[in-house]
Amino acid sequence: MPDYMFLLESRLLPEQRAALLRVQELSAAMGFNVYLTGGTVRDLITGASLRDLDFTVEGNPSKIARELEKGGAKVLAEDEKLRHVEILFSGDCEGSIAAARDDHYVRPGTRPEIRWSTIMEDLRRRDFSLNAIAISLNPASRGLLLDPTNGLSDVERAEVRALIIHSFTNQPVRLLRVLRFAARMGFKLEQRTQEWFDLAIERDLHHTITPEDAGTELRSLAREENPAAILKSWEEHDLLEMVHPMLAKKHLDLDSVNRLSKVRDDLFMAGLRPRLATPMMLAILGRLKDREQGSLLHKLGFRVAEVDQILSFEEEAHAAGKELAGKKLAAPIDAYRFLEKMRTDILAHLLAFSSNSTAVSKIRAYLNKWRPLRQGIPAIVNELTAIGMPPGPKFDAVVDQVFAMQMTGRGKTPEERVKILRKLSGIKEPPKPKETKGKEKKHAGKIVGKAAPIPVGKAAAPPAKIATAPAKAHKAAAPAKVQKKKRK
Ligand code: ATP
Ligand code: MG
Repeated sequence: MPDYMFLLESRLLPEQRAALLRVQELSAAMGFNVYLTGGTVRDLITGASLRDLDFTVEGNPSKIARELEKGGAKVLAEDEKLRHVEILFSGDCEGSIAAARDDHYVRPGTRPEIRWSTIMEDLRRRDFSLNAIAISLNPASRGLLLDPTNGLSDVERAEVRALIIHSFTNQPVRLLRVLRFAARMGFKLEQRTQEWFDLAIERDLHHTITPEDAGTELRSLAREENPAAILKSWEEHDLLEMVHPMLAKKHLDLDSVNRLSKVRDDLFMAGLRPRLATPMMLAILGRLKDREQGSLLHKLGFRVAEVDQILSFEEEAHAAGKELAGKKLAAPIDAYRFLEKMRTDILAHLLAFSSNSTAVSKIRAYLNKWRPLRQGIPAIVNELTAIGMPPGPKFDAVVDQVFAMQMTGRGKTPEERVKILRKLSGIKEPPKPKETKGKEKKHAGKIVGKAAPIPVGKAAAPPAKIATAPAKAHKAAAPAKVQKKKRK
């Protein structure tokens, strides 16, 4: 059995690990059992990136949320009836905490009665087997995998399987969800699930998807890495018009959606983790007029602030692009500082769609040259230390100056950099000792009082140590020989 705790800890980002530990700690202190559930466990098992942390507690999550808020977390939405909290943990890490519950349907398709339950009942009421797996975070069973519906084997078979025959009748929005998961993961529908899906469409159940449910799906779609594949699948199954007739009528602008997905990949490669929900939503709604976009989002239950954020985004991005291309940010170091603070969704939007070529080329330089150059800072720090500069504000200023010079193509070689560092720091090279011809031979091979240039990317090490390294290696090998003799 794989070690799920190890898998989890090795895959979490530091801020996600901190959030997980805090939720675990608070749940234990309040006497609640807590589990990692849903998409987080599915993504962990399938190797997909862990976007958010979904927790389920056998208890009321609002108590935990209040404590988390004290530590800087932000509650994004709270459904008191469902006991479900959407949360932004401190460290900018998204997630949710929900109470374990069972949805009891008196008759298929009616409104379910909610009953607080154990984790096992909660997993069984979920939509698909691959979403119905949990990992225990409780002291006595930490790392134990709970998989009551055998989701792991469906993941292995690359199939999405609905858990009960009434799955789509009970919640028609699952018609959109099942296609979203299948398209996202490249899975097919399990045979019986496919039959239930076809039957639901035959019975026109897709016409009963509520606008709010469709809105939730659209929101999730905009957070997907490859929304184009999902949109195509919805379109092929005539479900796009169930999200909104206007979307189907105006035909999708999949080029824009794909262009933004490609930029996301480029940003990942450059070490950034962009959240592209807002520009992606705009790309999805691309062919609609502003007025139509607003009315569609309102109808689908988007909050006013959300709609405003989406509709004002393009203007915001345009203004940021203009400032970036302006005279005030002509020096690369100033453009770098501006870009470092720029929101990654704005940066991505400009990269994908802006016709401001100056702004775009600065963003490209930032990603492909300036950020990698910035990674060489530890080497500059070592070099400056090696020539004898004590730490302090002046030290930091010199490092910054060298970085700014490097951005304009100077200080590429270690020798050149040491010269620049000496000039900026005012630390002169110690005078070479006057040596007679005879003495010269005696000192040959030793470096006295002079800092040797250090190549970028390598840690500084005193030259003398480098010289003695082979001798040490030889010594280290010696005991092996002794052992051999002993064994004989
Ligand atoms: P994503 O990666 O898109 O966030 P997710 O699986 O985490 O995927 P959420 O919408 O965040 O999706 O839901 C969290 C979990 O809640 C799901 O994994 C699933 O177990 C359960 N869930 C969500 N919507 C439904 C639904 N309509 N019916 C049953 N279970 C659902
Ligand atoms: Mg989720």
